[in-house]
Amino acid sequence: MWMRCLQLVRHPAGTSTAAALALILFSAGCQGPALRSSRAWREPPAASAPTWVGQPLSWDKLQAIETWLVGVGPDQEPQRVPQAELELAEGRLVLARREAASLSPSQLAIRLGASEAGFRRVLSKVDASSLDRQRARDGLNGVRALRSGESITAATAKVAPALSANLHPRAEWGASRANPARLTRHMGTYSRVTIHHSAKHTRDIGNTAGSYREAIQKIQKVHMRDRNFGDIGYHFLIDPDGRIYRGRSLDFQGAHASGNNNVRNLGVCLLGNFVQEQPTSAALRSLELLLAELRGTYGIPTNRVYGHMEFTATQCPGTLIDWVKRYRARPNR
Ligand SMILES: [Zn+2]
Repeated sequence: MWMRCLQLVRHPAGTSTAAALALILFSAGCQGPALRSSRAWREPPAASAPTWVGQPLSWDKLQAIETWLVGVGPDQEPQRVPQAELELAEGRLVLARREAASLSPSQLAIRLGASEAGFRRVLSKVDASSLDRQRARDGLNGVRALRSGESITAATAKVAPALSANLHPRAEWGASRANPARLTRHMGTYSRVTIHHSAKHTRDIGNTAGSYREAIQKIQKVHMRDRNFGDIGYHFLIDPDGRIYRGRSLDFQGAHASGNNNVRNLGVCLLGNFVQEQPTSAALRSLELLLAELRGTYGIPTNRVYGHMEFTATQCPGTLIDWVKRYRARPNR
């Protein structure tokens, strides 16, 4: 199991070659957890792609990325280095978050330090894309949040610890890379929020964290493959256990309320079909927390929170619309 707990360390000069890199062990308490997403849908890698591309998060995947980075990878495919660095750093962050309770403070510090260094390497590359930079900045916010319990929705905002502990990055659900050429950059400030359901009944989704992650992957696949979106349409998703997942980057307009209704409109989707079932109290609690955070960050009043059916002819989000209307009638806090 210790083989799974490798950490990449670069020489202080930070420059470059395989010779300047070494693999060291850092973990006495590394557990190498059995991750549950092995059944998850994954993008078929191109014939020449490294073995780790499209694989769900695991210690084995992170080790494969490290091996690729210190081997011939960067020479053969320099354009893939930012993706490798980001997946490695995000993966370390996700696993550190999952295992934080069982790690000593020094172990957690080392693992977060390795994650932070990876995000900083991406930001230091002059040719990194704006999307890669945003992912790296999101990652640094996540590192900061895990260190301090502060917000990862906005670096400067104060947030209930319950939300930051519960906000899961894209790597957690195995997101495919967004295609920025098919995304519209968000302009101005967000001024409203629209609530959706995923329309698939929870009995058909399953009731494990792995089945929820898989359901979100499928939503992204349908949005990108069948609807030609550049990414999953929603900015956030919430599962029946109350986990909140990051969807589309907040740098990009959502694709969830049809046409111009998406302008400056945050999209939040709860897994389930609330025409046929009720949302769980855990999901509603998380929706409350997320709305409070988003409204606080962007200055959105309660009466600018909507259900999808208020923009277009749809049953979405079922009876959750009654909750939305009650929410909207509340005084601003
Ligand atoms: Zn909807």
